Order: sequence, then structure tokens, then C-alpha cells
Amino acid sequence: MIILKGEFNLEERTENILRKLINTNTTNPPGNEIDAIRTILSFFPKEVDYEIIDHGDNRGSLLMEIKGKDEEKIGFIGHLDTVPVSDKSSWIYPPFDGVIEEGYMYGRGTSDMKGGVTAMILTALYFIENNITPPHTLKFVFTADEESGGIGVQALRNKGLLEDIAKVFIAEPSDEKIGICEKGALWLNIYVKGKSAHGSKPELGINAIEKLYEYINRLKDIIDLDESHSLLGEPSFAITLIHGGVKTNIIPEEANASVDIRTIPGFDHDEILRKAFSIGKSMEEENIGMSMEIQVENNRPPLTMDEEDVFIKDIIKTYEKLFYPVEFKGINFYTDASQLIPFHNIPFVILGPGEENMCHQRNERIKIESIIRMTKFYISYITNS
Ligand SMILES: [Zn+2]
Repeated sequence: MIILKGEFNLEERTENILRKLINTNTTNPPGNEIDAIRTILSFFPKEVDYEIIDHGDNRGSLLMEIKGKDEEKIGFIGHLDTVPVSDKSSWIYPPFDGVIEEGYMYGRGTSDMKGGVTAMILTALYFIENNITPPHTLKFVFTADEESGGIGVQALRNKGLLEDIAKVFIAEPSDEKIGICEKGALWLNIYVKGKSAHGSKPELGINAIEKLYEYINRLKDIIDLDESHSLLGEPSFAITLIHGGVKTNIIPEEANASVDIRTIPGFDHDEILRKAFSIGKSMEEENIGMSMEIQVENNRPPLTMDEEDVFIKDIIKTYEKLFYPVEFKGINFYTDASQLIPFHNIPFVILGPGEENMCHQRNERIKIESIIRMTKFYISYITNS
């Protein structure tokens, strides 16, 4: 069904593209996404319509367009960076070699998400090499820094370069399912400054650790952790960092902690933040001499799509045509969608090759067949849209 020109068959070609992307180390930090952009451009004829957005320090994002019969743009977003490898020696294959065994390629970023990026590249190549004009214009967006602060998608958004996209595929690993929602993330850093005192006279001080503990409990109480979402399950609240104290017999003057709150659709981060600040303020009033600072490290809202939306209905139709099992999925991690949808309210789906469970794991791998199946889906969706 898909014939790509050149000497490779689709399987060999998929392996070849993915391996070159895995060989191009884009561990973030430092990212070096410009190296991956060079690798991507090497697969395309030089006439292809592209633009590189330079973020400095060898970092950048790439936009590529294929003109369709009309102006309506279908977007595909994939990030180029990967999380670091902390235990290289314990991998069964070196994480940047792209070794294949029994249909799987191993390597950092295979599932998250150079497999998805490979499917995007193959989709673009299909239309270019076969000289097929798609019904709608295609916009492929390859971003930097998704795994950290999201500088790539933010820069593109701020320059207005994503405004023309009418609907968007986020090609993150979704187990080949139709990802219609994702969890939100709210990371807070809490600093407490109390008053030190001798351990034998705690009443003369303000115990920063105990106040921090109290604050965290009060914060946790205002978040409805018992709610549940049919695809995403329950929200969560985790204390992930804690520091404080100097000695057993000294009432601690300073303490700080970080919490990682994950939310489900229906949760309003602004509301949680308002309450988080107001608890801090009340505690300062209750404890004269104590100060409290709350910093927002990361704030990405939960997202959801209506199952009845035409975009989702059309995706289902294409799945049925290809005899793929139709199953919805909720994505537990946040994606570039969280930096896009709240600003441009367009239909979106998180749908790409690879397994969500493989993300950030040792011995990360992807089934080559999964990339081919998702490429066939993208091409089929575009052709019939
Ligand atoms: Zn990812």
C-alpha cells in the first residue's frame, strides 16, 4: 500500500531512519536538537519546504510543510530531545547504537519519541517521493526541549507559527491507541523560614520543618484526590524533595520541599494555586515571624477531547478501515499538547507508535512494526480526510 521510492523497502527504511535518529544523541540537557534536524533534513530532497527556528546553543525546532489541495492544515508534532541515560552499562545494548533484536530496536528515545518522529518523516516522504498532493496541507513540527521546559513549542507558539494548524496529532507513544486526554502536572516548591531555638526550648522558636509538614497536609486536603477519570484514573499528590534542619537538638530555621501534583480533567490549576497561596498567607498570619514562599516550577493543565468530535470520529473510521482495534487511551504524562491546546483551542489527539511504559526506561525499545502501522494510519487518515 505504501510505496516509497529508493532502494529500501519500508521496513529497512524505517530501521535506517530510526537508527540514524538514535545515533544522533539529543539527551536533554543539553539537547543539541540542531544535530537531529540535520539528520532529518538528510532524508529529504533539498527542495522540501522547511524552516529552522534557532533557540541558540545548538538547539532548535524544525517546521516542514507539504502543500495540499486546500489551505487547511493538519499538524503533526514530535519532540527531538530525549531524557538522559543514567546507567549506560546496565543496558543490554548500548543506548545510542540502535541495535535490533526480534523486531524491536533498542535505544534511548526509540519509544519516546524518535519512533513517532520516524513515522512523521515516513509520512512526509510518502507524499513527496510519490508526488502526491494531499487533500489538506501538512505541517510537520519537530520540537526541542519537550522533556524539560518546553522552549521549542513555546518559541513556535510565541512567534505565531502554530496558529494556522487546524487539528493536530501528537505522535507520542500511545500503545497504538487513540489518546484523547492527558493528565496535568503542577509542581510546587515550598520554602519555609522559621526561627531557630535550642532543642530544649522549642517554644522560643518556629520549627520550619513542622510548619512545612503542616502546610503540605493542608495543601493536600484541598485537592480532591478521591475523584477518578475513566481513562486516567485518580489524581496524585507526591512529596518528591525535602530538605531542612541542621542538628538533632536545634529547632530548624529553614525547610523546603517540592510536591508533584498530577491532575485529571475537571481540575483547575488556577484554583489550586489560589488556595496554595492563601494557605501560605494564613499560616504566616498564624505564626508571626515565619515566612513562606511558594514557587511554581511547572504548570501544565489536564486536557481532554470530546469523543464525539468529528476529528476523533474520522480517526475511528480510519482505524476501522485498517482493521486496527479501536480503543481510547488516557496519557498519564504531559506532552507538547499542554503547551499548545490551552493557547490554540484546536482538536488534538495523542497517537503514535511505541509503548507508554517504555518512556524514560532502561532498555527502552520499540517494535519496528508499530512505526509502520502508525505510518500507514497517518497516510490513510490524510488521504481520506
Ligand atoms: Zn515524549
